[in-house]
Order: sequence, then structure tokens, then C-alpha cells
Amino acid sequence: MLAIEGLSKSYDGKKFALSNCRFQVEAGGICAVVGESGSGKTTLFRLIAGLERPNEGRVSIKGEVVSDDSMVLPPQERNVGYVFQDFALFPHLTVSQNISFGLKSYKKETVNKMLSLIKMEEYAQAYPSQLSGGQEQRVALARTLAVQPELLLLDEPFSNLDVGLKSSLRQEIRGIVKEMGTTMMFVTHDLFDALDIAEEIIFLKDGHMLQHSSITDFAKEMEHPEVLQMVANLSTDARRMLEVMAHREE
Ligand code: ADP
Ligand code: MG
Repeated sequence: MLAIEGLSKSYDGKKFALSNCRFQVEAGGICAVVGESGSGKTTLFRLIAGLERPNEGRVSIKGEVVSDDSMVLPPQERNVGYVFQDFALFPHLTVSQNISFGLKSYKKETVNKMLSLIKMEEYAQAYPSQLSGGQEQRVALARTLAVQPELLLLDEPFSNLDVGLKSSLRQEIRGIVKEMGTTMMFVTHDLFDALDIAEEIIFLKDGHMLQHSSITDFAKEMEHPEVLQMVANLSTDARRMLEVMAHREE
């Protein structure tokens, strides 16, 4: 679905926000990009979406090059859905109007399907200011999914939510994209988000990929001090789960 080759980006021509990134994501997969603040996660997503031009390397979607250092296919022509970190819902539009925003015309059927997918039918006429953080996140997701992107990018979808809400929203989003058959990438600084729903995990640090593993190989392949530190910061239960995974026979 997505192939990233030797991708680098510098905003000022000196310091690289992203360096020589290389990976692929299979169609229908869920891939988490994990890293601390400033590690280049958003830059990677902006490059994939076509919002930035790479200095080197290229982005291909379904075998077609959509970005390299000489050409950037505009965001609206690459069928990639992007949910920004701050949701960016329109405050003066209702939930229904927000969801239908990207459609060429208001399609009641699509809006209703999306409302049912995010289980918010009764909020159709509510305004964003009347919603909780988790509800806003779901509406932002529905608005993006309404145009049926093949690749969905979620930037820090769980970062503004409390723990209980976070856990149910993770599973809910996972269920929704699986039902739609959408390929999804999401950014998080919390490794547990990735362990809970991702099938692949990419670690970024200072723009460099430290590790790229499938969830099944993650525990066996972790070796970078930064990755190990992040693992050490997990809850006891999560660490125990990883230990079991690391010692699991092939
Ligand atoms: P993350 O999303 O992991 O927090 P970013 O991709 O936002 O990281 O940022 C990576 C690096 O690039 C940081 O050093 C940041 O300051 C820098 N950066 C991001 N966006 C810009 C920009 N528009 N102009 C200049 N520098 C930027
Ligand atoms: Mg970011």
C-alpha cells in the first residue's frame, strides 16, 4: 500500500527532521509510529500526505510515486486521510455538517453510516463545543473516513484523553478501520497504544528509524537503549506481556 524509500526532510537545510527513512506498510495493516516529541513523527505524516516536499527519497502509494524531490502530488489527489493532532473540527458546524464537509454534496446516507460507525447518532445536531474530547476525536475520524481514503493517518489520536477513554477509543478505532478495510498509520508517544492495536511498530528518534518490527517480533528485536527505556516505563502488566512475547517459540 505504502512504500517509503530513503526519505529525508530538512526545514532549514541544515538539521534533518527526518533522515533516510525506509519502510513499507501492507494494505489493511495498522502501523504505529512511536517517538518522543520532536522525533519527526508529524514530519513523516506530512510527507506521506503530500503537505511537504522531501529533500531526498520518495513516497509511493500502491506502486505509484507520489512524492520525490522534484514532484509532489497534491494531498487531494492521493486518497490519504489525515486526522490532525488538534482534531480541527469546524466549531460553527454541527457534527453532521462536519462529517459531510469533505463530500462534494451533503449525502445523508454516508453521514448516517458514519454516525452509526462512531456510535454518535444522537449527536448529529450537536456542535463541537458540546462534545467530550473522545467524541471530538471520533467525529474527526468520521469526517476523514467519509471520503473513503485508502490510507488513514492519525496524528496523536489518543494524547488528549484520559486512560480509560483512551483504551476503549483505541479498540473502537481499530474496529472501525478493520470494518472499512482502511490501511492506518498512527502517531503516539505512548508505546502501550502501539502494543495494544498496531500490527507494526516504527520507532523514531531525532528523525532516525531505530526499529521497525511486526508486533509479533517487537519484543525479540528491541535493543536500542531508547526503546528499552520506553519499555521500562511501561506498566508491570505490559512489561510482563512483552516478556512472554519475547520468549515465545516460533
Ligand atoms: P514530532 O511530531 O515527533 O514531535 P516533528 O515532525 O513535528 O516531530 O518535528 C521534528 C523536527 O522538525 C523538530 O526539531 C521540529 O522543531 C522541526 N520542525 C517541524 N516542523 C517544522 C517547520 N515547519 N519548520 C521548521 N522546523 C520544523
Ligand atoms: Mg507531532
